[in-house]
Amino acid sequence: MSFFADVMNRINDKATGTVTCPECGKKSKHPTIKIRRQQALLCPSCKSLFVVHSK
Ligand SMILES: [Zn+2]
Repeated sequence: MSFFADVMNRINDKATGTVTCPECGKKSKHPTIKIRRQQALLCPSCKSLFVVHSK
């Protein structure tokens, strides 16, 4: 993720980020606000719930 995109995500709660599912390795998009708050995300591929621990 570029620095510019990172800044945009920080000021826009409707922004989405791409995360990689730890179960199946599939990438999917989720609201950045949920990722930042480390809320459970549902993988659309394998239907597993996971939490992304970001920086
Ligand atoms: Zn998955």
